[in-house]
Amino acid sequence: MNKKEPLTGFMALNSASINKGTAFTAEERKHHKLRGLLPPKIVSSEVQLERTLKNMRRTQDDIGKYVFLTALQARNEKLFYKLVVNHIEEVMPLIYTPTVGQACKEYAHLFRRPRGMYITAEDKGEIKEVLENWPYRDIKVIVVTDGERILGLGDLGANGIGIPIGKLALYVACAGIEPHQCLPIMLDVGTNNVEYLHDPFYLGLSQNRISGDAYNDFVDEFIQGVKNLFPDALIQFEDFLTPNAYYLLNKYRNEVLCFNDDIQGTAGVALAGIYASTRISKLKFKDMKIMFLGAGSAATGIADLLCYALQQEGLSEDEARQRLWFVDIEGLVVKSRKGLLPHNEPYMHDHEQLGFIDAIHEIKPNVLIGATGAPNTFNHDVVEAMSEANERPTIFALSNPTSRAECTAMEAYDWSQGKVIFASGSPFAPVDFGDQKFTPGQGNNVYIFPGIGLGAIISETSIITEDMFLTAAQVLAEQVSQEDLDKGMIYPPLNTIREVSYNIALAVAEHAYAGKTTKSERPEDLESRIKDYMYDPSY
Ligand code: NAD
Repeated sequence: MNKKEPLTGFMALNSASINKGTAFTAEERKHHKLRGLLPPKIVSSEVQLERTLKNMRRTQDDIGKYVFLTALQARNEKLFYKLVVNHIEEVMPLIYTPTVGQACKEYAHLFRRPRGMYITAEDKGEIKEVLENWPYRDIKVIVVTDGERILGLGDLGANGIGIPIGKLALYVACAGIEPHQCLPIMLDVGTNNVEYLHDPFYLGLSQNRISGDAYNDFVDEFIQGVKNLFPDALIQFEDFLTPNAYYLLNKYRNEVLCFNDDIQGTAGVALAGIYASTRISKLKFKDMKIMFLGAGSAATGIADLLCYALQQEGLSEDEARQRLWFVDIEGLVVKSRKGLLPHNEPYMHDHEQLGFIDAIHEIKPNVLIGATGAPNTFNHDVVEAMSEANERPTIFALSNPTSRAECTAMEAYDWSQGKVIFASGSPFAPVDFGDQKFTPGQGNNVYIFPGIGLGAIISETSIITEDMFLTAAQVLAEQVSQEDLDKGMIYPPLNTIREVSYNIALAVAEHAYAGKTTKSERPEDLESRIKDYMYDPSY
């Protein structure tokens, strides 16, 4: 076999996976024929990282930093990931929520160079041929969206590609998935966003969305194309409109290696937060009542997993559902209501119709979870009502980005007189309250999906089961230390994320082997296989 020739000269400098810039050693400079093409000083990777960090911080606004980081990822992949891993608390909010929300809104205006794939409605009948253009075959994770419900921001059409790109960067940084094994995909089926349809900079198909059978057939052709070309790939559905999200998940979950992060990933992270909160509130999980504001994919996904988890504690399905209450824009979800979607039906209670605040007073939930995309919906009265009903109320304001959070961390601590156990979807800075300092937890799906993906890759499971999310939630809750709880945190610090992902991956893989969803038996060296696989951005 011919030894592969190394990339040389500008080809090497322009290859993000090879390029080390000024950190190329003398030997590497010779090997890649770079002598004379770089400034002479050979810089250590530590100094290089420090310079990069300084440059990133010089950029004043977050969108500028996003653009800077995007360019870095395209120029020097390892340096980019080293920056993300070593400074995760600072960098993650720039490459993911909240900044990614604004970046998606402005994507067409910020556009420099493509990343990922665009499969459009015009490719119908030829989707496999288009997928074949991707240069790698060994794909392990695909994150795919159709851009119709990006975070809490609605239909952003092809601009939504920023979400799969961001999520896959987190797969690499947080669970060590190999960058070249990740594929971000935008299913561009048009957009109903009138502003974009009139924007000359917009880069997607300038047509309204296809829907119904045309849409379902299009997605099916895409799924079959993926199965054919990338048979080992895990497909993560991301930011689809709720009815489509449920349709696709229910259609493919037992047939294809896939999950929906908005439904199942959110559920895993919320359940973990609830488990951890019981170590502060001293309540028993199986005795808890939980109320949701918002009855869409995130809230219902959480309820479905909670229902399953409560049954594992000995409750019947009916008893478990009695603990879970929904309020949406029309009020309490009750049997007498008309026009609710199928995913709401299991949670329609035999109860009189009530507004939100009356429902809290009457039902007295221990946990309140907001997944509305509607800011300021947890107002003073809401937080006060939760504090009257509970010694330590637990409140999750999950809506993203930060501007959509149901309340801020400061409001939650302030209005509850410091009693609240609080977590949000997007990050909030620590809050000083009297002589106490609280660190709000971030109920970010990043605590769950990278570990699930890593476990699935290593075990080569054929499907992702509900039990895997339950297991992931239990493992995540166990990683919260007493010191974290004392600060008010119900999630471990982000800088432990690679360890968290490893532990989740191990538990998920064990589960897959035990459940016989894998192609082969559990290997003796499972732990070291996971560790050895994990991508290390150092050089
Ligand atoms: P969705 O559109 O499916 O559901 C939104 C729900 O909120 C609907 O039931 C709607 O009726 C209800 N709603 C809207 N405004 C309301 C109001 N003023 N009062 C009461 N109910 C109201 O959306 P989704 O996928 O469920 O996502 C909702 C939010 O959750 C988004 O902002 C998303 O970013 C966030 N989310 C957060 C996480 C996380 O932090 N881990 C994960 C997933 C989704």
